[in-house]
Amino acid sequence: MSTATNTRYDKNARIGQWLQMLESPTLAVPVDLVTGFAPVAPVDLTARVRAFQAANGLVADGIFGRKTYGAMYALLRQKSIAALPLELQPKSGKKLVILNGDPYKDDNMNFPMRADVAFFLHQAMQEVRAAGGIIPSAGSLRALNAPLTAGRVARSWHYFAGAFDLHTYAGFQDPTKDPLVIVVDGDFHRVYVRCTQSRPDVVLPPEIELKNPCSQRDRTGAKAKPVRGHFLDLTAVFAKYGFARIPPHSGFRTNPRTNYMTAEWWHFQLEVWMMPEFSTFIEQLLLLYTEAQLRNTPPMRAGDAVFGVDFR
Ligand SMILES: [Zn+2]
Repeated sequence: MSTATNTRYDKNARIGQWLQMLESPTLAVPVDLVTGFAPVAPVDLTARVRAFQAANGLVADGIFGRKTYGAMYALLRQKSIAALPLELQPKSGKKLVILNGDPYKDDNMNFPMRADVAFFLHQAMQEVRAAGGIIPSAGSLRALNAPLTAGRVARSWHYFAGAFDLHTYAGFQDPTKDPLVIVVDGDFHRVYVRCTQSRPDVVLPPEIELKNPCSQRDRTGAKAKPVRGHFLDLTAVFAKYGFARIPPHSGFRTNPRTNYMTAEWWHFQLEVWMMPEFSTFIEQLLLLYTEAQLRNTPPMRAGDAVFGVDFR
């Protein structure tokens, strides 16, 4: 469909994105809404890095090295926590913020997010609710000693509360009724949320038709009838706030016996927080835990990895 450049692991595109976020009073994430990734780097990137360095007491050589990375990331994280509404500010000494998920069937789970991540999910949730959609949760933070399974890898972003899962049965069951409707989108899924006039102030998105909605019986939706309704493109909303999706595990579409828990359509992670070639898995864990807490846990045993290189 789209042939736009995939800038998922492009360091310069991300530096440009970070600089623009720092300049934005609302910490708005510049993003290519088609791909969901960073737009291409601005042409004057070196001059802008130099200006950032000069303003932050660093050697103004225009080279984005480890010190510049550290200073820029710390500032962004600090700003994102400050931007949280007062009632969501982390209590002193706490590193997690709990966002309320919407109840679905008998479940009512929350999203415990790292404080510096919560602002982005909070904004996305507000946008979805204003359009009459719901965000039911299957959790976000994974306990350090949780066992590894088919759908649970050692280098999961859930260990550092940088990822969340939508309710895994709120979609892919019955696309004519589910609150979430999923379609195949290249190697990925695209998730739509069904919107209803649940409150007088809801502003419904226009009615659209979704072709080939997926379900457990028809994993690619090839034989499915289209569904019509007021749908909001949830994948695009999350992308707008820095969250990226991940593809289903290989085999999920071709072999109907592959564990449903590897579909991953429900999973989103704050990739705008990751600088290709710089951000590492253990660095992310250390933003939430101490070294002593991490010792001998499954994510720590997996070893360190660098975003855009071997941590994806
Ligand atoms: Zn997940």
